[in-house]
Amino acid sequence: MSKVLIIGAGGVGSVVVHKCAQVPEVFSEICLASRTLSRCENIQKSVKERTGRDIEIAQVDADNVAETVALIKKVQPKLVLNLALPYQDLHIMDACLETGVDYLDTANYEPPDEAKFCYKWQWEYQERFKEKGLMALLGSGFDPGVTNVFCAHAAKHHFDEIHNVDILDANAGDHGHPFATNFNPEINIREVTAKGKYWENGAWVETAPLSIKQSYDFPVIGPKNAYLMYHEELESLAKNIKGLKRIRFWMTFSDNYLKHLEVLQNVGMTGIEPVMFEGREIIPLQFLKALLPDPASLGPRTKGKTCIGCEVEGLKNGKPRKMFIYNVCDHEECYREVGSQAISYTTGVPAMIGAMMMLTGKWRGAGVFNMEDMDPDPFMEKLNIHGLPWLEKILV
Ligand code: NDP
Repeated sequence: MSKVLIIGAGGVGSVVVHKCAQVPEVFSEICLASRTLSRCENIQKSVKERTGRDIEIAQVDADNVAETVALIKKVQPKLVLNLALPYQDLHIMDACLETGVDYLDTANYEPPDEAKFCYKWQWEYQERFKEKGLMALLGSGFDPGVTNVFCAHAAKHHFDEIHNVDILDANAGDHGHPFATNFNPEINIREVTAKGKYWENGAWVETAPLSIKQSYDFPVIGPKNAYLMYHEELESLAKNIKGLKRIRFWMTFSDNYLKHLEVLQNVGMTGIEPVMFEGREIIPLQFLKALLPDPASLGPRTKGKTCIGCEVEGLKNGKPRKMFIYNVCDHEECYREVGSQAISYTTGVPAMIGAMMMLTGKWRGAGVFNMEDMDPDPFMEKLNIHGLPWLEKILV
């Protein structure tokens, strides 16, 4: 029985609150805090209607460490779940250290003025969390998150040596808008327009943005064009899977999405450098975010399925083995259950399960951890129970 403080009342935060509310034996009390209180109020109302549970809400600017510290002291949670944006990670980790509370997030730190995400900044908190006997669990979403756990599961149960991993993320959903992103538009577009990168034979290989593609035949949703991108779990998995030769990440995009993105890029709307407009500075990408549909509003209109998984290749008992471990999730079913589309759902459920692992003592440790550092079994078991059942297909 534990109280949690959830920061960030966006698409993902909403799913996490609903899913935690479904498990009162672990999450006995829930407080949701965010920058805009009205968003917390909407989620509070929906949770009451769907689960009958009352949750606390609060307003906080998580970039202000003193404000977050004061909130944590008032709420007295056992764990803070950070579902705000990657920009807030270090500030919330600082507040957790100051108040002696465990920490969890779903995306690694990214400085607001540079489209560059990496674990360096958060891994540097290792000694400080260790000294205080606190645990920080990084990247407990789907990718990163479940994809890391799938790799740990493959290593534990199916392979003696893992040589190649391809992480494949397909969204075959249709929201009916000409152009929209399924999670925070600013973070999404920064990620998609960045250079691609994969790890091979001990070195990183850089590629031009979305310049490498393959057609992959996904279970249930069929063949889709998947584009090579850099994604944060590659960094920790390349370090943590011993004997790995190559790891890559692929994401599907429709031709329509890519056409809009190209035009927006060509006219400078995806830039993160300030420009002067009518006497004041604006950041084009932030202005674009204000024009695009709010990802949290896509739930009622999105139809179709997602399929995200890991294709793992290596050796078992001296023989080659290749398999695909994956989940298929349906946008409309997610909406019926928690009022959100599948991208928020597939991120929010693993955040709830990661928190459950920490609060029930299944995953414990002092320091900063990635998901693959932990035993995959209890997490994989909970995925099946809490809405993200997984399957595995032996290919070779
Ligand atoms: P949203 O933009 O929908 O929600 C973010 C929320 O955080 C908003 O409610 C926003 O408040 C709030 N927020 C922003 N800044 C602050 C601040 N300084 N203080 C307090 N609250 C703040 O994003 P998503 O829900 O789509 O994404 C949430 C996180 O999940 C992101 O970090 C994203 O990268 C990550 N993610 C991870 C995935 C994974 O698989 N691992 C996949 C998808 C997303 P306001 O309403 O005022 O703007």
